[in-house]
Amino acid sequence: MDKAYKNFLSHFPQRVGDELMNYITNVVFLHSRYLFTTRKGRKQTAYCTHCKTWSDTEGLRHGQQADCPSCHSKCQVKASGRGRKYLKDHAYVEWYEKSLIDPNAFVVSGFYVLRDYTGDFTKVETEYSMHAEYLFQQGKSTMYVLGWRDRM
Ligand SMILES: [Zn+2]
Repeated sequence: MDKAYKNFLSHFPQRVGDELMNYITNVVFLHSRYLFTTRKGRKQTAYCTHCKTWSDTEGLRHGQQADCPSCHSKCQVKASGRGRKYLKDHAYVEWYEKSLIDPNAFVVSGFYVLRDYTGDFTKVETEYSMHAEYLFQQGKSTMYVLGWRDRM
């Protein structure tokens, strides 16, 4: 790692904090909550991708909106037997924080976030991929694009 980049990185927090995680889960991906329904005999059950819980449900229909019985999130109902080849939600997030070492500077992390429901919907975790990092100091800004490092 070259010295300039190392200096640049020293302004950034070492890891992504809880505040950012909460922002992504509860704001950016508020719409990305699903109830996947399935049948066991005559009973319908549904898996909530937000609270990761199976609940007994009744009469939920593919395509409608419903509250998760367990966490009460507003979710989109999906029949688990239907194809979901394209069911991916993604967004670009820019996150502002104070510099760790310069009280007059701030940093911005820009990254892509993805929730991919095309596979096993009980295993979906939010994925992150760093795209760009910015440092704003008085009279000066510095940017690195695609500087990826393991902060997530
Ligand atoms: Zn839930």
